Amino acid sequence: MIQSKGYAASTATSPLAPVDFDRREPGSQDLVLELLYCGVCHSDIHYARNEWGSSRFPIVPGHEMVGRVTRVGDQVSDFKVGDLAGVGCIIDSCRTCTPCEDGEEHYCQKGVTMSYGSKERKDSNVISQGGYSTNYVVDADFALHIPSTLDPKAVAPLLCAGITTWSPLRRWKIGPGMKVGVVGLGGLGHMGLKFAHAFGADVTLFTTSESKAADAKSLGAHNVIISTDAEAMKSARGFDFILDTVSALHDINPYLSALKRNGTLCLVGLPDQQLAFKPGLILSNKVISGSFIGGIKETQEMLEYCGAHNIVSEIELIDIAEINKAFDRVVNNDVKYRFVIDLATLKADS
Ligand SMILES: [Zn+2]
Ligand SMILES: [Zn+2]
Repeated sequence: MIQSKGYAASTATSPLAPVDFDRREPGSQDLVLELLYCGVCHSDIHYARNEWGSSRFPIVPGHEMVGRVTRVGDQVSDFKVGDLAGVGCIIDSCRTCTPCEDGEEHYCQKGVTMSYGSKERKDSNVISQGGYSTNYVVDADFALHIPSTLDPKAVAPLLCAGITTWSPLRRWKIGPGMKVGVVGLGGLGHMGLKFAHAFGADVTLFTTSESKAADAKSLGAHNVIISTDAEAMKSARGFDFILDTVSALHDINPYLSALKRNGTLCLVGLPDQQLAFKPGLILSNKVISGSFIGGIKETQEMLEYCGAHNIVSEIELIDIAEINKAFDRVVNNDVKYRFVIDLATLKADS
């Protein structure tokens, strides 16, 4: 076993606190990473607080990890000791079902293994624990190469917030001449703006916070619409595609109205309640769709693109001791735009 140290929630209501735990024994296909940085995703909070009702405790959250390879299994050929590597939301899958063969391991029919809270496929006695910790053991097929030109701490959020927005924007072939909306300016939304802008679309941010308008323009929005302004929303029309990143209960009907004929609203947030929509969308052939993170190959493609175009996340670097305060700030939408934990502060914290 590999000894690790992290911050864990022991129940749904307890704050995260230091913990020592063991990771599974690395095998011939595995890497061991010394973790350097880990992003703080809203899903970490949902999971640590059992808001989806499926959490296994104790849990070390974190699925936006960047680290340095310290050990390489003898069957691994494409990583070496000293490389920077990333681990996102998924760490294993059956590898034989149709989605796995299509490179969509996150939709594995036998159930994908998540980077925390899942039974490890290679050792069913071990529940995976996430990246708010000193190290990680991962199959090399599920590790990502990090472009050397990018700041590794600002790369970490690409591994969840980045791929979650990249994947639908690619799937709907967003590009020049298209009018694209992004709903919400948080960890996901700010990456949505950067990518949609980089792909050459005309980009509008929909936000409830007037205070975010100036930032939105520097992040890639050409226009900003305050979504609580009913008149402004009525004049928002003709969108080819709207990416809705909001993970709280909200009204999606104004966004459906804003789509043009054949337009698509794609949901990437995961509210814990049902969203209602008016069936009037049939009158102009509109689509409501969903998208969930992305596969490993696609995530690597995104990282290469980010390396070539110098795209990273906007982050606030925090010490591990600030994690509980950071959770509250994420819930209050008070972060620009992703917290990233400097895991050197965890090592120093013993
Ligand atoms: Zn996430
Ligand atoms: Zn599978």
